Amino acid sequence: MTQTTWNQEPHPARLEERLDDDVVRCHLSPRNCRIRPGQHGFCMVRANRDGRLVTLNYGRSVHATEETIETEAVFHYAPGARILSMGNVGCMLNCDYCHNWKTSQARYVEDKDVYHYTPEEVVDIAVRHGIKVISWTYNDPVVWHEFVVETAALAKAAGIVNLYKSAFFISGEAIEELIPVIDIFSVSIKSLDPKYYRKITKGWLEPVLEGTEQVYRAGKHVEVSTLMVTDLSDDEKTAREMATFVGERLDPSIPTHFVRFHPDYKMTDTIRTPVDRLERARKVAMDMGLNHVYLGNVYDTESTNTWCSQCGLLQVTRYGLNADLVGVDADGNCASCGTRAPLKLLPDARRRSKVQELPAGGDLDVASFDWHGDVRALHVQMRNESDAPATAYTRRYGDPAADGSWEIVELKPQESFRYIAAKSTPDELGVQVAIPDRCTSSLHQVFDRAHFPTVEVAAGTLNQDVSPLPLFQPGTRR
Ligand code: SF4
Repeated sequence: MTQTTWNQEPHPARLEERLDDDVVRCHLSPRNCRIRPGQHGFCMVRANRDGRLVTLNYGRSVHATEETIETEAVFHYAPGARILSMGNVGCMLNCDYCHNWKTSQARYVEDKDVYHYTPEEVVDIAVRHGIKVISWTYNDPVVWHEFVVETAALAKAAGIVNLYKSAFFISGEAIEELIPVIDIFSVSIKSLDPKYYRKITKGWLEPVLEGTEQVYRAGKHVEVSTLMVTDLSDDEKTAREMATFVGERLDPSIPTHFVRFHPDYKMTDTIRTPVDRLERARKVAMDMGLNHVYLGNVYDTESTNTWCSQCGLLQVTRYGLNADLVGVDADGNCASCGTRAPLKLLPDARRRSKVQELPAGGDLDVASFDWHGDVRALHVQMRNESDAPATAYTRRYGDPAADGSWEIVELKPQESFRYIAAKSTPDELGVQVAIPDRCTSSLHQVFDRAHFPTVEVAAGTLNQDVSPLPLFQPGTRR
């Protein structure tokens, strides 16, 4: 893994149509951009170089990050599984509230946030850290098509599951190339209102719905989510329309997530979605016949848990980005009545080795971070600066009833590793990291799920309980 000037190495692109006068058309997303020599498409990461379509972000990624599958609005596949999240640069949409705008909008990307991975390196990170799922996520994997397809195939051959978390403004042709290698699709449907799509996302609705149906019909594991934006899409109408789409064009058993919004990017003059509106939307969708409706970015509610549809036994408890299987046996059946649970399980997907105490006499520096306000998750980045392997440790602290043991993180020489720590119980106070003195570390506050923070805690923030950094300022571009 190296850091580079991110857009200076064009790579041949798929889904190219060559037109007259060296013009090319890109068939990756429904925009079908017609691109003249030297120009780029809407996403700014696909371009025409000498009459051929190229991609400018092949292998260019934000830092690979270990998270949990709940981060991706996936609740019915391997609850609690550790995943390796891979995000890239650019997007085929430009949503007014994007919380990853520093990486999704290519004009604002800074080289310091971009790393270069090969497909082999991505798979190697997952294998060495015992991670069973790779998630293609954050800004949006659609505009990373060539790298995703190649790497996912390599990962699949290594026994790793691939998860695709996307706004899914993508062509049917491109989906056909994903179907052989992607196992799980988590689709973010922003709204069921065509006018909303045009105005807020700069895309359009129907291809998103058609694409979701396409992967569902192909037999893939599908979950759908909607960001309920305060006063824009957090109403009963959105809930009814989502329930109609899922119930009529997919299946009522598809998990559906209503996700809490926070002010960001161009939409900061508002407030977080009131939780009672989310609960109301959930009730409306369930009353219309959906079997599994969950809330996202909401703590201290039972609307994130899973119960047995037959006997009502609590099967999965969730707190934030953490999940515990409490009523399901090893075969995936209800622990009380034996009915098949609506979950796919993945053996050993959760495990990381632990120790009760830090090694005595070690050269360890311990740093602490306290949860505060709406910040209940943190990216921890640690780098082994030496040419010898190193062992670091991490734990949650402050809840006497919870497991306070230290999880072990093994780092190879010169490895930079990043993972999420998310508040796991109401009484937990924060997270601690213990690293050897030949390692360095940095902390990055996470504001809600699937957010990739580009700013360190040390940089501070104007309203550090609810506002992300950096603030968007119109006119500041690269
Ligand atoms: S991915 Fe979409 S936005 Fe980007 S060049 Fe292709 S058609 Fe245009």
